[in-house]
Amino acid sequence: MVDIKIIVCIKQVPGTTEIKINPETNTLVREGIETVINPFDTYAIEEGVRLKEKLAPLLSQTGEEIETIALTMGPPQSGEMLKEAIALGIDKAVLLSDRAFAGADTWATALTLAEAIKKFDDWKLIILGKQTLDGDTGQVGPELAQKLNIPFIGYASSILDINKNRMTIKRLMEDRYETFEIRLPAAISVGKDINIPRVPSLRGKLKAKNEAIPVWDKNYLNLDQSQIGLEGSYTQVIKISMPEHHYEVKMLEGSPDHQVDELYGKLKELNIV
Ligand SMILES: Cc1cc2nc3c(=O)[nH]c(=O)nc-3n(C[C@H](O)[C@H](O)[C@H](O)COP(=O)(O)OP(=O)(O)OC[C@H]3O[C@@H](n4cnc5c(N)ncnc54)[C@H](O)[C@@H]3O)c2cc1C
Repeated sequence: MVDIKIIVCIKQVPGTTEIKINPETNTLVREGIETVINPFDTYAIEEGVRLKEKLAPLLSQTGEEIETIALTMGPPQSGEMLKEAIALGIDKAVLLSDRAFAGADTWATALTLAEAIKKFDDWKLIILGKQTLDGDTGQVGPELAQKLNIPFIGYASSILDINKNRMTIKRLMEDRYETFEIRLPAAISVGKDINIPRVPSLRGKLKAKNEAIPVWDKNYLNLDQSQIGLEGSYTQVIKISMPEHHYEVKMLEGSPDHQVDELYGKLKELNIV
């Protein structure tokens, strides 16, 4: 019987800058493009695996077990990403997938993740990346914690101490570190300074190959269409466009002094200096 669960929320994002926008729905075209695990989520996966490695021997002394679970809300193909997480050392994974989830903003995404997490018992810690490469809002973590009524610490840079009831955590702010002791269950988001993600092990890859990943849909989560996807979203991306860059090249001529004067004049004209 598993006594403690660590849930790692990960998102599949475009692994290329060649992104296409669906002109009808103004959402990213995710089919047929190269995808990757959101970079910050690879640190979240690593932290989950490390915490299990640290706590499992201690907990086994009292006959308790700990398990890590990767969770994603996404199209069916994001199941492959969950297998990568298992190859990296995560124990189990669940895919939240349903056409009804499409077009979700951060509020609807957080709600769907929260309802899925409530299906697990004994979850103690939720680890997220600090933001995604595509939506890039950093909103899902705090929104998820609010829906589960648990503490949230963003930008965690090291977990100083942890047991099944409390955790001491340090985070980096612009100009200082802050240290918190918080009650579990709780949620944290992590940045690049928390660890160095490992590469998948052969054993991990073999386990991932044979892993059957359960898919939970809107009905399994007892969610109403009005709460999820585009309908359950307070914000809608109405236009995504790539900024246009105008490049104009002008070769400066004459003596170096003359060129410097001309350049300085141009920079002043553009209010750069
Ligand atoms: C270009 C673009 C702009 C967008 N702008 C907005 C916007 O301004 N407001 C808005 O509400 N929505 C926006 N969205 C939609 C938003 O991307 C989705 O709601 C998304 O699922 C969550 O937001 P995020 O990508 O900003 O995640 P963030 O809040 O940046 O993600 C933080 C962490 O939450 C976890 N996480 C995020 N999404 C998932 C998921 N689907 N499954 C599991 N874990 C997850 C990961 O650990 C991630 O590192 C935008 C989408 C795009 C493509």
